[in-house]
Amino acid sequence: MKPKRVIDLTSLLEGQGVSWPGAPFPEVTRAGVLAKDGYNVEVVKFTTHTGTHIDAPLHMLEGRPSIDTLPAEVFVGEGLVLDLRDKKPGETIGESDLEKFKSKIQRDDIVLLCTGWGPKRDFTKEFLFDFPGVNPNGAKWLVASGIRAVGIDTLGIDPYNDTNFTSHKILFQGRQDFWIAEGLTNLEELLSRDRWWIAALPLRIKGASGAEARVVAFEI
Ligand SMILES: [Zn+2]
Repeated sequence: MKPKRVIDLTSLLEGQGVSWPGAPFPEVTRAGVLAKDGYNVEVVKFTTHTGTHIDAPLHMLEGRPSIDTLPAEVFVGEGLVLDLRDKKPGETIGESDLEKFKSKIQRDDIVLLCTGWGPKRDFTKEFLFDFPGVNPNGAKWLVASGIRAVGIDTLGIDPYNDTNFTSHKILFQGRQDFWIAEGLTNLEELLSRDRWWIAALPLRIKGASGAEARVVAFEI
C-alpha cells in the first residue's frame, strides 16, 4: 500500500536561519567532504526547539515526560487543520475562533492551526514577534475538547508577549502524553480536505524537553 498523497509540513532548517529571538542561530558546519575525506558529513548545533520541532510536557512542567519517553504511537494519528488565516499580526487565537470548528474535532485528534504565518518565515518583526498564538481561553478550550496534540505554523503556541508561557502550561496540564508541534509550514496545502493522517516523529534525545521532527500529513 502506498499513501495517495504525502505533504511535508517541515520548515527548512539551515545554518544562520530563523530561530526563537534570543536563542542562538542554528549552525550547520561541514565536517567531511567526499572528494577529500571519502564521505560528506556535517556537524549541527541548535537548541532542541529550532525550526519544526515537538515540545514534550517536560518543556514547561517538572516531572512530566521528556521527548524520549513519549511512545512513538502518540506521534502518529488522525487529525485535521483549522483555517485561522483571518488572524492579523498581534491578534490571538481564542475560544470563539475554535468553537466554529467544534463539530469537526474528534477526541484524540491531532489539531493543526493554519494561521498563514508559515510562508512568512523570515527575520521580520511580524514573523518573530507579532505571530498569532493561542490565548489561555483557547488553550482551555483545546484541552476540554480531548485532543491528543496541537500544531501551529508560528514560532510558538503562546503569543510572543506571554513570557509566562501560559497556554503551553494549560495544554500540558491536561493529558500526560500531550505534545505541541511548532514551526510548521505548508498547512495551507491541507485546507482542501478536513481530515488527514499525521506523522510528527521527533528525534529521541534522552531527557530532552523537545526535539526537531520531520512532520508530514498523508492521505491513505
Ligand atoms: Zn513550545
